[in-house]
Amino acid sequence: MLYIVPTPIGNLEDITLRALRVLKEVSLVLAEDTRTSSKLLKHYAIGTPLRAFHAHNEHAVVEKLTSELAAGTTMALISDAGTPGISDPGFLLVRACVRAGVRVECLPGPTAFVPALVASGIPCDTFHFDGFLPHKKGRQTRLKYLAELPHTFVLYESPYRLVKCLGELIAVCGEERQACVARELSKLHEEVKTASLAALKAHFEAKEVKGEIVVVVAGKP
Ligand code: SAM
Repeated sequence: MLYIVPTPIGNLEDITLRALRVLKEVSLVLAEDTRTSSKLLKHYAIGTPLRAFHAHNEHAVVEKLTSELAAGTTMALISDAGTPGISDPGFLLVRACVRAGVRVECLPGPTAFVPALVASGIPCDTFHFDGFLPHKKGRQTRLKYLAELPHTFVLYESPYRLVKCLGELIAVCGEERQACVARELSKLHEEVKTASLAALKAHFEAKEVKGEIVVVVAGKP
């Protein structure tokens, strides 16, 4: 049995009672960064052993892990923050487990794009999640595709590229398209700002942009 366990995206209170119980009860916790996750487990007095599972070793270890799971070891997969598999490692292992007939349960819990989308005030009945845009090759093609969508789309972006990204979005969506920048969700300096793309660019150009960011953009009118 493999449990996928979402962990807080900032505020340590954002972890469910069930997530804590599962992390205590499993034989092994697979973690993206064992140092980051050992702090989380220590905070909740959970002593379950940790093993590294990240973007650089997932291809190499997925088969062995699936065999261990099929043989009866119960494990939980966590990432540094939020839900594994959402712009984080997880998909390869889940797919291998599904194919091998190993039971997978994903606990409901924190992920950054849901609070950003819901708090934005931009329609959230239908939306497209695109995660991180490619940095170079394919970025323009992706942006042009997104600009034509009739419904809301959601991106993850780094603070260093936010202003550039807003400029690129203006080029394909126009200055007046409504958008939202959700920064540092659930943390001390949380900021959720909804305005036209032009106003958002002006706002974030005027200061040093810090923290983790979700960008929500309204669909093509
Ligand atoms: N697995 C995570 C999830 O379920 O949302 C996403 C992991 S991805 C490597 C990290 C990105 O998620 C950040 O660069 C940022 O775009 C977004 N993110 C994570 N925590 C956030 C927060 N507290 N506020 C805003 N965005 C956040």
